Amino acid sequence: MRYISTRGSAPALNFEEVTLAGLASDGGLYVPEVWPQFTRAEIADMAGLSYVETAVRVMMPYVEGSLDEDTLRRLCEQAYCGRFSHAAVTPLVQLDHRQWLLELFHGPTLAFKDVALQLLGLLFEKFMDGRDEHLTIIGATSGDTGSAAIDALAGREGLDIFMLHPRGRVSDVQRRQMTTVLSPNVHNIAIDADFDTAQALVKAMFNDPGFSGRYHLSAVNSINWARLMAQVVYYFYAAVRLGAPDRPVAFSVPTGNFGDVFAGYVAAKMGLPVAKLIVATNVNDILHRALTSGDYSAGEVTPTAAPSMDIQVSSNFERLKFDLGGRDGAAITAQMAAFEKSRAIQLTNSQREGAAKLFTSARIDPDDMSLAMRWAWREAGQVIDPHTGIGLAAARDVDLDPAIPIVTLATAHASKFRDPVERATGVRPQLPSRVGDLFERQERYEVVHATFDDVTAHIADLATPSK
Ligand SMILES: *Cc1c(COP(=O)(O)O)cnc(C)c1O
Repeated sequence: MRYISTRGSAPALNFEEVTLAGLASDGGLYVPEVWPQFTRAEIADMAGLSYVETAVRVMMPYVEGSLDEDTLRRLCEQAYCGRFSHAAVTPLVQLDHRQWLLELFHGPTLAFKDVALQLLGLLFEKFMDGRDEHLTIIGATSGDTGSAAIDALAGREGLDIFMLHPRGRVSDVQRRQMTTVLSPNVHNIAIDADFDTAQALVKAMFNDPGFSGRYHLSAVNSINWARLMAQVVYYFYAAVRLGAPDRPVAFSVPTGNFGDVFAGYVAAKMGLPVAKLIVATNVNDILHRALTSGDYSAGEVTPTAAPSMDIQVSSNFERLKFDLGGRDGAAITAQMAAFEKSRAIQLTNSQREGAAKLFTSARIDPDDMSLAMRWAWREAGQVIDPHTGIGLAAARDVDLDPAIPIVTLATAHASKFRDPVERATGVRPQLPSRVGDLFERQERYEVVHATFDDVTAHIADLATPSK
């Protein structure tokens, strides 16, 4: 499999190269040159498979040329067997006759990002093995990517990880899951700015050839293709359990950077019968506006009880625009340049019409989020987190054939966001024992000014130049 950039001028890469590169050198994001196809029979055949075997089937076409099947299987076993607290890895839970939860939070840091990052950490290690080089992983986090990436990469040979988070805008559990990991290769940076600023700083570091070359930068954000690939697996796994390919399934996805829901789009492109993808946003609703009226314009970020969705610029939306707009790299380059200048663009007709076929969207305000959380608790005995609450509110609201089951992606464990959960439901969720004595441990992080010069100077002090 070859991967091409959404901006059309970076070289095509294989899976190993694309995993280590993260962002493309022309500022674009890598996507597979073609979408692999599964027939109905091949999808039906997944009905008896474990999570790991489903993962091997779904991901094999994407890693071809870089990993053989046995190696991929071994990495998946290492990532998913033992590291997740549920034998199904991503179990389904029934709420009523048509609403389901897909619990993606059984990994070590209690959010869905573990599903991809546990594998990505192993892929980095595998691909760096035997190279006389040092890798510098740089990321920005609205909370959950940071903890999942740090868990997956702490103490691994040949790499350092620098994680930027917006100071005071992540929950105390999220912060402690990052800052109490004291491995020498883990470096937490708190900046006095929002997540979009943190993400823009990371992008600027990648786009600075001097800096990115000197430190061999790589990405763990969902700009990294390997992460999205790992997330495609659970769409297949869940849909097959609910009757795919004979019965189409809809998914409601609490969305920030458009990574998780883009993985659902990929599953549909591969032949999974997905009836609808519901893009659920909070009041930071750029994606809802883009999908309903074509208005892709960034405002100010409003902090909410669902901080992992407090985003105005959704990186992965570029991948969708590219795929829906005839895969025209020059057009995307021009569109994104216009966006960077004015922070506002209109989607083209082909982008809008293409999106309308599969996607619908909802903007969920705090009251509707709380109502959905209360409903799940009262009617189904499920304590859900605010992000999942937003997904469920959108799922309960959507106008869809009632015979189609709707699966809401439960993206975080409720105990990661205890205060808003308690406010909505009256229940204060306990941290599961697998996270241990999080509140007794020592924290370590640096506060750095949110400027390119300050952040790069800080990183340069601590990073190991690549050979
Ligand atoms: C990251 C995150 C999201 C948003 O996922 P995207 O892939 O950025 O759209 C939603 N919920 C939780 C709990 C998250 O950690």
